[in-house]
Amino acid sequence: MFQALAAKKGAVVRDKTEVVGVRKGPEGGVVVTTGTGEEFHGAKCVVTVGAWTSKLVRSVAGFELPVQPLHTMVLYWRIKPGRERVLTAESGFPTFSSYCDPHVYSTPSLELPGLIKINYDGGPPCDPDSRDWASGGGDVADRVARWIEEFMPDHVETAGGPVSRRSCMYSMTPDKDFVIDFLGGEFGEDVVVGAGFSGHGFKMGPAVGRILAEMAIDGKANTAAEAGVELGHYGINRFDGNPVGNAKN
Ligand SMILES: Cc1cc2nc3c(=O)[nH]c(=O)nc-3n(C[C@H](O)[C@H](O)[C@H](O)COP(=O)(O)OP(=O)(O)OC[C@H]3O[C@@H](n4cnc5c(N)ncnc54)[C@H](O)[C@@H]3O)c2cc1C
Repeated sequence: MFQALAAKKGAVVRDKTEVVGVRKGPEGGVVVTTGTGEEFHGAKCVVTVGAWTSKLVRSVAGFELPVQPLHTMVLYWRIKPGRERVLTAESGFPTFSSYCDPHVYSTPSLELPGLIKINYDGGPPCDPDSRDWASGGGDVADRVARWIEEFMPDHVETAGGPVSRRSCMYSMTPDKDFVIDFLGGEFGEDVVVGAGFSGHGFKMGPAVGRILAEMAIDGKANTAAEAGVELGHYGINRFDGNPVGNAKN
């Protein structure tokens, strides 16, 4: 939906096009190079490469941005016969987060009839270019099964494990706060970075997109400032000499 709306406004979406380099243009601005050797020239550049952020930032700017890729699994479990309706939003079943160990979250049964998504919020560190797609490593499904057996034993079937597993990645910062900042260094304010959404960035997409666009076009995020949002909280320099960033020790 977002891509379709952007295309309507004149954006050109280039799928399956890997950016391998970002450098300063000879007469200012930014040059972006792709894996197939194409070059794109622009006044500004916004980098939002998710779990690949620390790799790209390291290669183009030479510093370590602490955005750790985590291999996460989306797990769907079979609802016990007769309980299908109870676990839908129409029946009032909520989206919830269980902040214990393991941290488990779930959404009402919707996209796959008869199944419900119940997941572990996290996963083992991974290299986004060489993942263990099948299991992601670790005993995540077993841990979620034990949680279900404790809290929802009458509603969800755990025998045989989850019915469907899908691989995904979080891009985790040490404080779970986003990174929204200019890249700085030789790029100054010509390159803007939006990253480290730590498993909770999707719902913020429209707001973060506006902030990134205003930073690129106007040099500052006026809408955020008017709303009283302090963007310094999301700055790269919060990690200077402080590996945990905004986290309380
Ligand atoms: C299982 C799961 C459940 C989640 N649930 C929620 C939720 O309920 N609510 C919520 O708000 N958030 C949720 N999130 C988090 C949300 O999906 C992320 O925070 C959000 O997608 C991050 O957006 P992003 O643009 O930073 O990265 P991504 O969405 O990962 O997009 C990055 C894009 O950059 C591309 N890319 C990478 N490297 C390059 C390169 N060199 N050149 C070109 N392109 C490149 C990638 O292919 C990818 O398409 C969930 C995440 C997972 C994994």
